[in-house]
Parts: sequence; structure tokens; C-alpha cells
Amino acid sequence: MRTAGVVAVQGDVAEHAAAISRAADRHDEVVEVTEIRTAGVVPDCDLLLLPGGESTTISHLLAEAGIDEEIRAFVRSGKPMLATCAGLIVASRDAKDDRVATLDVIDVTVDRNAFGRQADSFEADLTVTGLDRPFPAVFIRAPLIDEVGDRVETLATVDDRPVAVRQGNVVGTSFHPELTDDSRLHGLAFFR
Ligand code: GLN
Repeated sequence: MRTAGVVAVQGDVAEHAAAISRAADRHDEVVEVTEIRTAGVVPDCDLLLLPGGESTTISHLLAEAGIDEEIRAFVRSGKPMLATCAGLIVASRDAKDDRVATLDVIDVTVDRNAFGRQADSFEADLTVTGLDRPFPAVFIRAPLIDEVGDRVETLATVDDRPVAVRQGNVVGTSFHPELTDDSRLHGLAFFR
């Protein structure tokens, strides 16, 4: 049995936990989901999810609790991580905003709230590399990815701009894959 950690300082923790369990089921895997609020848990996890929320708050809570360094070590160890929305902002190299202490585990720069206020929430059927059918993606005050490093593969775009990326063992999405019943994105990140 593998242990799935969901960082639970903020965001859709229960929804992600459910999506991970559904994805594991489809791949005939058994996972135990554990919520991460303190240091010392991440090293025991086999896969890790960094949910959305507010990136400024998340990054400071992670640093305060000492979880930030543990996430960096986790990613260096090669185990799979999925970072969504504000989680992607926190995982990025640079959010171009001094209030966000980024982890620099995905070589991308992001624009917070790039879609602006008018289009602050929308859904799109996205073509995603590795998925056989479009994925129903929910965007909520979503970041857009600007610069993509050499080791980063773009998995999906909206208006020619990356909204899902993979760098080795880390997948990042600017949308919220936990908000529909479709757990294929969690499957792609963790159980392929
Ligand atoms: N715009 C938010 C931020 O900058 C992210 C929004 C989200 O996670 N849905 O942190």
C-alpha cells in the first residue's frame, strides 16, 4: 500500500483525497491518504498533492511549518507530485510576486490571476497529452504559465498558453482537477 499525502494547510483537501482514491482504484492500486499540516509527514509519503487556495498564504504556512524543505527533498527523490492552481504557483520557479515564496521545483514562471476578473472562473474541455478524451477543466482565478524551461513538457494549453505541464515526476495544472468526478488527471500524475 502506498501513502498519498495531501498538503492540508488550505484548499480542497477532501476533494483531492477522493480523486486520488478513485484514480488508485482504476489502476488497481491501494492508497492510504494522509493530510499534511506539520513537518515530518512528507518524508513518509509515496506521492504528494499540493492543492490550490491562496498562494501567498500557502507558501508562508509551508515555510513556517518547515514543510517547504521537505517538499523540495520529496521532489528531488523522484516521487510523483501534483500541484494544482495556487499549488502550481507555489511550486513554480518564480511567481513574479514577492509575497509568494516559491519552492522552485517546476521550471516555469507564472502570472497570478492572469485571466483577469471578468473571466475569473470558467470551464473548458481540454485536450491533455496522455489522456484519450478531453478533460473537463475548472479554472478559478487561475494562474497562467509564462516561461517554460527546457525540461518542462507542456501537456495542455488554453489560447496557446500552457495550463498543464510535466517536469519529470512533477505535474502542475493551473486548473482544479478535483472539482469534477473525472480523476484521470490524478491518474496521469500518480499511477501511469
Ligand atoms: N489566484 C490564486 C493565487 O494567486 C490561486 C487561485 C486558486 O488556487 N484557485 O493564489
